[in-house]
Amino acid sequence: MKDLKLSGHKADKKRTVIEVGGLHIGRDLVVIAGPCAVESEEQLVKTAVAVKEAGATMLRGGAFKPRTSPYAFQGLGLKGLKILDKARKETGLPIVTEVIDTRDVSWVGEYADVLQIGARNMQNFSLLREAGKSGKAVLLKRGMYSTLEEWLNCAEYILAEGNPNVILCERGIRSFETYTRNTLDLSIIPAVKAISHLPVFADPSHGTGVLDLVEPMSLAAIAAGADGLEIEVHIDPQSALSDKDQQLSPAAFSVLMKKIHKIRKMVMELDEA
Ligand code: PEP
Ligand code: MN
Repeated sequence: MKDLKLSGHKADKKRTVIEVGGLHIGRDLVVIAGPCAVESEEQLVKTAVAVKEAGATMLRGGAFKPRTSPYAFQGLGLKGLKILDKARKETGLPIVTEVIDTRDVSWVGEYADVLQIGARNMQNFSLLREAGKSGKAVLLKRGMYSTLEEWLNCAEYILAEGNPNVILCERGIRSFETYTRNTLDLSIIPAVKAISHLPVFADPSHGTGVLDLVEPMSLAAIAAGADGLEIEVHIDPQSALSDKDQQLSPAAFSVLMKKIHKIRKMVMELDEA
């Protein structure tokens, strides 16, 4: 692949480690958990406390939701960001939240520890440039129709603005399969590692859209070498205003976290052997 001047491996093959709120992304396993959307203070804070208790290291929650229909819940906006701030104060968990508009990058960045750029905006080049200028860590999700080369070139837009803090996140691509919401492409995890020094995560929630597949695909992603996971968890999934069929209950997430730690330990041992 050509022109991956900043995202491609350097001569020393050293991997990037990004420090956010005391975490070392790319070195320590990071699990981002929380609801699809911030819906209320009670919903978010209760979920945040539960995921922290289960071992999550970052909190997610959308205040701006890119929805297929303009009539679907679009998120709480500023009110949602203020609720995220409250949950951060209560739990100490750094916040990952999506930004969908160039005009919002600087003020959303005042609330977020990590700005998420979603699959639908992966190739929104002006948004990438703004996120680059913000200097904030950016979680760049893979577009649902995007090749590895296109994805890394989008990371390049952020890096070229002088922001080295880019985390890639595989979230499934469109295929002919309809049973799953997307096809989680786990082969891309070791492929990213072969080409790039950037940390790479997997999102098995959007990647499958099927509750029972979130656990096995989380474990498989760690086995494939993912540096972290982004998992949707809701205090009461059935009442969720978006993505209700893919959000884990805190109890299921807690069981999953124990398995994640076990498989991560095995991966580390194999890497050392
Ligand atoms: C999300 O994580 O909230 C989201 C909308 O994901 P994606 O952009 O991967 O669809
Ligand atoms: Mn979602």
